[in-house]
Amino acid sequence: MHVVLVGPPGAGKGTQAQLIAGRLQIPHVSTGDIFRENVSELTDLGKQAQTFMNAGELVPDAITVAMVRERLAKPDAHAGFVLDGFPRTLVQAQQLQKTLAELDENLDVVLEMKPDDEELVRRLSGRRTCQGCGRIWHVVYDPTSVDNQCDECGSSLSQRDDDRPETIRRRLEVYREQTEPLVGFYADLGLLAIIDAVGTVDEVTLRAVQALREAQSA
Ligand code: ADP
Ligand code: AMP
Repeated sequence: MHVVLVGPPGAGKGTQAQLIAGRLQIPHVSTGDIFRENVSELTDLGKQAQTFMNAGELVPDAITVAMVRERLAKPDAHAGFVLDGFPRTLVQAQQLQKTLAELDENLDVVLEMKPDDEELVRRLSGRRTCQGCGRIWHVVYDPTSVDNQCDECGSSLSQRDDDRPETIRRRLEVYREQTEPLVGFYADLGLLAIIDAVGTVDEVTLRAVQALREAQSA
């Protein structure tokens, strides 16, 4: 299946994408993760992206689209993918359609994750990411059994540089201004499924899996 997750920062896209990709045995493609890997490896791409990321702004479309095209052309993405954090602008959405047409592939469903605004800030400020396996945790909602140590691989956790209050506010504005219009674009294509992102991780997973089933049988 070719799945896109859309929703504001903190909606739970990464959390659900890891679970769905694991169940469907398809890659989880997170543009934020790819940018962060490049930032930590000090690549040219990372250097270009870092200033935008730290300011809570989007990395320019040309850079982002080229990176995704390269990723989706890899053999493991042919059977499907869960795209998390891309597309984030109309230009990116149009370019994604073009890239998929060139690869002779189609999107099956776009899941819009609808959260509660106050909850977003709580989710983002408590988010911690494993530095080893990338598993997403939360200090209150999904804590590790030993402080600051991943239950799955034992590595230590880190807090994202852009999960600071001032940057969080800007990222939420950027979402409303630049990404929310995508919902109409995908609704017009008949690809949109809206899921309530309020509730426990398991509850949201059930809703997501149900929406995927409906899309598959449509
Ligand atoms: P996104 O990728 O949309 O920015 P994440 O998946 O990284 O969001 O989730 C943000 C934070 O909220 C993480 O710390 C995650 O553990 C936590 N989280 C995700 N889903 C839920 C949920 N349903 N209930 C409570 N916390 C959640
Ligand atoms: P995320 O991990 O999805 O929250 O993304 C973190 C940051 O990476 C964003 O705030 C942007 O600066 C950048 N980024 C990730 N995906 C994109 C995208 N599709 N377009 C532009 N910038 C992106």
